[in-house]
This record gives sequence, structure tokens and C-alpha cells, in this order.
Amino acid sequence: MDENKTADNEKENIIVCDNLVRIYKTDETEVMALQGLDLNVKAGELMAIIGKSGSGKSTLLNIIGGLEKPTVGSVLYEGRDISTFSEKEMIEYRRKNIGFVWQKSILNLMPYLNVMQNLMLYARFNGMKKKEAYDKALSLLERVGIENRKDSFPLELSGGEQQRAAIAMTLMSEPKILLADEPTGAVDEKTKDRIQELFRAINRELGITIIIVTHDLSLADKVDRVVMISDGKISTERVLKDEYKQKLDELNGYDFEELKKSGKDSHDEYQLLDKAGRIKLSEDMLDAAGIDTNRVKVSVVDKKIVISMDEE
Ligand code: ADP
Ligand code: MG
Repeated sequence: MDENKTADNEKENIIVCDNLVRIYKTDETEVMALQGLDLNVKAGELMAIIGKSGSGKSTLLNIIGGLEKPTVGSVLYEGRDISTFSEKEMIEYRRKNIGFVWQKSILNLMPYLNVMQNLMLYARFNGMKKKEAYDKALSLLERVGIENRKDSFPLELSGGEQQRAAIAMTLMSEPKILLADEPTGAVDEKTKDRIQELFRAINRELGITIIIVTHDLSLADKVDRVVMISDGKISTERVLKDEYKQKLDELNGYDFEELKKSGKDSHDEYQLLDKAGRIKLSEDMLDAAGIDTNRVKVSVVDKKIVISMDEE
């Protein structure tokens, strides 16, 4: 019976990261960008991984996307360890399943081709009929709201339009997972909101799993689940409560601030217990509890675990 349960979990999780370690070695130094990171992502989820600069976000995304290999640990895609993929399978994996959106969205686009020509490139590489590709490209440009810019060149677009074009371009291949690295890092507040809305709409309408990594805490309100990353490990996790998720969908995301004024907290917050039974406590928590030593007493009281200082 347990075996069935495991199989179910694997089906439900499109991505499972198990004990990922990534060490960058240079002549003088060794940086441990990921330090035993565990993360499960459900198919169809819209989630964000938030952490400070240098916490390992880009490294993690590149490993999930098959651009980089972990030093230790594994990534399962639909239950298959991607490190066992042959070179050919890896190319297929990246081409068919993964879409990348970068902060510098201009990196997704060819500067000397206009927006439509950029999207049509996909047809050329994948043997799609021109007419079919054109119709698909046009409908995607409509979907992201820049069909009126189809004849413009990337450098003629605003930051927000470039980002939309990059997203449309990525969607041409109908990826299962969209990986976005600081997608709102280079745009103003209003554009940021719109792009977040777009991610939400794509997730809901097309069922694409979306993983956004960012240092921007304000993104937390706009996704279903947030995990915090620090020092190359996941620390806490916040899950948008069902009632909010529903309202957010009904409102199409707008007016979230209004929603929050109703007073209740929008998220449930969890600490993550890793497979070895370890948990990371934040400085804030330790401060609030008045714990200032590194030796603590742990006891179980009424089915609750209590961590306290030794009083003697
Ligand atoms: P983030 O995206 O959260 O800012 P990164 O994943 O880019 O973090 O980096 C995590 C850590 O790994 C940082 O200390 C960074 O300096 C280091 N790092 C990232 N890429 C390399 C690399 N190619 N060579 C050496 N160190 C690297
Ligand atoms: Mg980064």
C-alpha cells in the first residue's frame, strides 16, 4: 500500500529535487551554492522561490532546466532522474518540456528579427507549417496582449513588452514547465503587476507549471505557494489558503490588496523538515523566543515539539 502511495506522489509531482548540492570550484575558492536542497513541485502549480541575492536561486533553476548538473543529488522529472538522460534525451527534455524566461528578456529574442519573426523561428526549427505557426504565434501574441507590436523589433519595445514577447516565444513550444528567473527584476511596479497577472493567467488557462525565482517578496501574494531559500536550502513555505486562491481566481488577481484588508492572513506558513529530520529556525523566531545559545532542550508536550533554553 505504501508503494502505491509513493507512485501516486511521483505522478503528482512533476519535479522532485532530492538533496541537491552544487559546488562551484575556482582556483582559490569553493562556493557551495546549494546545500542539500529538497523541493517538490506539483504538476500545474504556480509557485515562487524567494531569497536574497546569492542564495542559490539561479543555480537551482538551471539544474531543474537541465542547463547545469548538480554536484550531488538528483532531479526527477515525472519520476525519471534527469541525470540518467542521454545527451539526446536531455536536448528533448529541454526543448519539449522546459521554457525559460530570463530577467533580461532580450536574451530570449533575436534583435534583428521582429517579434513575429522571432516567434516563427520555432516553426523553422521544428518543421511546423508556416501558416500553422503564424496562427499560433498570433494567438499567443494576442494572449499576452502585444499583437499590435508584432512587426516591431525587440529593441523598439518597452521592458514590459519585451518580457511579454519573451513569454509568448517560450510558449510556442508548449512547455510543461515555465522557469522564470527574476522576470520582474527590470520593470516598473505597474508592469510588474501585469506580468504577474499574465503568469497567473497562463498557469490557469494553459495548465503550465510555473516556477518563478526572485528576491522580490511582493511576489509572494500572487502565487499559490512560496518557498523561501537561504544559503542554498529551502527554509520556510507559505501556501495560499484555498479561500484566497478561489477569490484571486474570481477577481482575476486584481484587487488583492482589497482582499487582504478583510483581515485574515492569506497564507498558511510552514517550516520545512528535511529528510534527516532537520529544521531551520530563523533569527527572528529565536529572538522572539529569547533563545540565544546553541544548546537547546527539545521536548514533546501534548503532541507538540517544544524547543527551549536549559533553565538551570
Ligand atoms: P542567486 O540567483 O540566488 O543570486 P546564484 O545561484 O546565482 O544565486 O549563486 C549562488 C552562489 O553561487 C553565489 O555565492 C554565487 O556567487 C555562486 N556562483 C554562482 N554561479 C557561479 C559560478 N559559475 N562560478 C562560481 N560561483 C558561482
Ligand atoms: Mg540569480
